[in-house]
Amino acid sequence: MAAAVMAAALSGACGGNDAATPSTKSAATGAVPAATVPLASLPKIDAAAILDTTTKLAMDKFQGRAPGTVGEEITVGYLEMRLKELGLAPGNPDGTYTQKVPLVGITGTEAKPLTITKAGETGTIKWKDEVVAWSKHVAPSASIDKSDIIFAGYGVEAPEYGWNDFKDVDVKGKTIVVLVNDPPVPDPADPAKLDPKVFGGNAMTYYGRWTYKFEEGAKKGAAAVLIVHETIPAGYPFSVVQGNLNEKFDLVAPDKNMSKANIEGWITLDAAHKLFQMGGQDFDALKKQALSKDFKPVPLGLKASMGLRNKLRTIDSRNIVAKLEGSDAALKNEYVVYSAHWDHLGVGAPVNGDNIYNGALDNATGVATVLEIAKALKQAQPQPRRSFLFLFVTAEEKGLLGSEYYSLNPLYPLAQTAANINIDGINQWGKTKDISVVGLGASDLDDYLRQAAQEQGRTITPDPEPEKGFYYRSDHFNFAKQGVPALDPDSGVDYIGKSAEWGKAKRDEYTDKDYHAPSDQVKPDWDLSGAVEDAQLLMAVGYRVANADKFPEWKPGNEFKAKRDAMLKK
Ligand SMILES: [Zn+2]
Repeated sequence: MAAAVMAAALSGACGGNDAATPSTKSAATGAVPAATVPLASLPKIDAAAILDTTTKLAMDKFQGRAPGTVGEEITVGYLEMRLKELGLAPGNPDGTYTQKVPLVGITGTEAKPLTITKAGETGTIKWKDEVVAWSKHVAPSASIDKSDIIFAGYGVEAPEYGWNDFKDVDVKGKTIVVLVNDPPVPDPADPAKLDPKVFGGNAMTYYGRWTYKFEEGAKKGAAAVLIVHETIPAGYPFSVVQGNLNEKFDLVAPDKNMSKANIEGWITLDAAHKLFQMGGQDFDALKKQALSKDFKPVPLGLKASMGLRNKLRTIDSRNIVAKLEGSDAALKNEYVVYSAHWDHLGVGAPVNGDNIYNGALDNATGVATVLEIAKALKQAQPQPRRSFLFLFVTAEEKGLLGSEYYSLNPLYPLAQTAANINIDGINQWGKTKDISVVGLGASDLDDYLRQAAQEQGRTITPDPEPEKGFYYRSDHFNFAKQGVPALDPDSGVDYIGKSAEWGKAKRDEYTDKDYHAPSDQVKPDWDLSGAVEDAQLLMAVGYRVANADKFPEWKPGNEFKAKRDAMLKK
């Protein structure tokens, strides 16, 4: 399936109206004003400088840059030094380059097994083998006690698709069992395909993310949310879920996270079959029913009890933030935010004798690139009207927590935040004819990027793996979720002088071998000539957004538009 999706993305890259036409150089596209400073006249980004900073951040001395470790101290010290050197002001109004991010680490263990009861009958779902569960409550324990079990389909309420799996059924205090992923609704015109009009067809929407299922269940007041694990739609085996029993991190909300479900977790497909059978239901039949808008939650006539013990640890981590003030007396109170997560996985299980997860690509490169963009913007003439924030967030690898904290506790109001441009990884294999955008078509920022790409004779292409839901998996998403238009660029797929297979093979090679492994290090064969072109584009986008008369907007129909419109009306 992934190969087919990739082929479709690639064929899209070759035609269509994205084709570069040098004659349209400074013409406005879509909602973008004509560029007053051509791309070629903006300061240049330096590949050697990106490589140098990346190499430093990925040194063993930085200990894999895990929050709350000596690696954080070294990283914060290093970045503060660099930001001062660049002549950037402290980004926190308190006069510092940091924003404190209080994190809690929770290690949950089973105190009382997940027990299912029905008049006279008791069943147990085995810890770790069949159920992996935790609590985000900042409390020594969490439990459910004889809580009614309800099957709630995909656990989705999506007004824009007229879809509500909960209908008017009250799930307060209950245990809901939900299916993984977006509802895979077949296309009425061709049932072999997914309907592109609901839940993004092949592309994953936020409703398909497991984090959404827990959030939505909690919003409805469920005491426990259990997702049924299935390998193909989830995209990973249950062993990956079992890996989740390690310490988990979260922000600490003022209510100590008590508004979240008491228990969040996953059960295996086999356990789901047993559970439904005990309730006199057929899992597969109900799963099929859940593919319809008309689905109503099904009480299984069973009760669930379970207890967890929590070991708690608090960590004060930091976002790092610098500011470049705008030149316009009024507009300087508005911001364009560049972000990149500084953290990685730290020191962990050794692979081939190496236990330091250096995170060179993920995301020393992003940090290095944002620093170079900052340097270039400082030199750009005329100086941009709006201000810039360069935000290096913590704890991305622990669940996008640093950016979530910033989005909930912004240093400058989000209504005065024009846009977010996030960089997580860069292209290390040379020049491409294109640049990819995850969630292409979401906002006017894509038009800004298209305009700049045309000046380089390049095109923009959609995310090559839309089914993986990458739009929801990096820091820009927290800005989007709060309503701020956010751009999530990715490396192009069409390498100059190479076949389409070559680009895909390189990408797969990284995913298989180096992603989240100690071998994510600077490699001798890296060629950052393409990354520099990408950085040049992203710098131009920020510069032009900072100079535009109005803010970029979400496109009509986008899931985050309503929030932005409401915010700007106030
Ligand atoms: Zn990353």
